[in-house]
Amino acid sequence: MELDIFDNTNSELFRNRYVLSADYIPEHLVARDQEIQDIVNLVRPVLSHDAPKNALVFGKTGTGKTVVIKYVIKKLYDKIKKNKLNVVPIFINCKEFRTVTQIIVRIINDIAPEISIPHSGFATGEYYNNLWEIINQKGLTIIIVFDEIDQLKDHNILYSLSRARENMHINNNIFIGIIGISNDLFFIEKLDPRIISSFGSRSFVFPPYNADQISEILKNRANMAFKNGILAESVIPMCAALSAQEHGDARKALMLLEIAGEIAEREQAQTITENHIKHAYDKINTECIIEMVKSLPIQSKLVLYSVIKLSKRSKSSLTTGEVNLEYCELCNKINIKNLSRSGVSALISELDLMGIINASIHNRGRYGTTRNISINNPTEKIESAILSDYHFD
Ligand code: ADP
Ligand code: MG
Repeated sequence: MELDIFDNTNSELFRNRYVLSADYIPEHLVARDQEIQDIVNLVRPVLSHDAPKNALVFGKTGTGKTVVIKYVIKKLYDKIKKNKLNVVPIFINCKEFRTVTQIIVRIINDIAPEISIPHSGFATGEYYNNLWEIINQKGLTIIIVFDEIDQLKDHNILYSLSRARENMHINNNIFIGIIGISNDLFFIEKLDPRIISSFGSRSFVFPPYNADQISEILKNRANMAFKNGILAESVIPMCAALSAQEHGDARKALMLLEIAGEIAEREQAQTITENHIKHAYDKINTECIIEMVKSLPIQSKLVLYSVIKLSKRSKSSLTTGEVNLEYCELCNKINIKNLSRSGVSALISELDLMGIINASIHNRGRYGTTRNISINNPTEKIESAILSDYHFD
């Protein structure tokens, strides 16, 4: 029989792995009744041909912002269809669609798929004019959700959309509603006051989940994701405790469970145990650290690289002086101007705060203080992350 490489029905552990992914929208959302109602209140007016309300939604990663909005949009969509309303909800992830042109093209594709609009070549004004024309022609009210709104390149689109009616670009009987979502609680400070006022200064904050709530989220999904009796009893409480201890991140909790399942499957284990979760936890944290390392500025990379070089040579922890010396040599070798010793010391503290290295302060009596610098993250992986951008040797 021919082997079907896409078939996963013969998995020993998973029944339906997809329900653990971030795209899945569950039928029931745990501990988010109030948040669902808040969003419903924003969009409900469209059901009686009234103006939707604009708002900003904040909360840390994994607090359910995206899933709550998608859940409400899905229910709204059903209502719109049932009542034959001329309303279109549009969900835009600003990580993917960041510029005015990209966003307008995306909106037009959603509301008028029959019209093909070039992705470049027009002046911005022409894109807007096209959009207004189509909305007016179709008499559509639209509700646009900007997820990860802090990734948007140009905030002016928010202003133009929210003032389209007032500026008489669109007819009086139609509306444009805007909901922005962000993990960045300080995003509002980066916005122009005119734009904040377009949101009616309305904003909501999603609180982090506690361990019990995460447990419940995990239980519901695990029942669908895994075959019966696969999870050791302590596995869900452990995932929940680990995630609650960070910041109540449901996404990380689900990811832990999924990766643990993957590891167990690779080992051909019959059950998923605490050990698999520990493994998964380390794996996810390492990936996080690697991502952080890749995004460090060059000077921090040089300091980190020096720490790695030195710790390969000696078993004991390092002092700021030793790291500084190695770092200066490295700068010299690759012709980059080195920072002062206090500059290097500041970068060392920063790397410590990020959890990439350990740099506890050690009191040496009358000789003052120094740091005990060491690294217990996988140095090989960190080194290759640094070297993927630069070649120092
Ligand atoms: P955010 O957008 O705030 O970062 P998400 O909405 O992407 O978080 O949620 C992360 C993951 O956790 C998703 O897989 C989502 O389905 C799940 N999740 C979050 N909140 C809940 C909840 N209240 N009930 C069930 N699943 C949830
Ligand atoms: Mg999200």
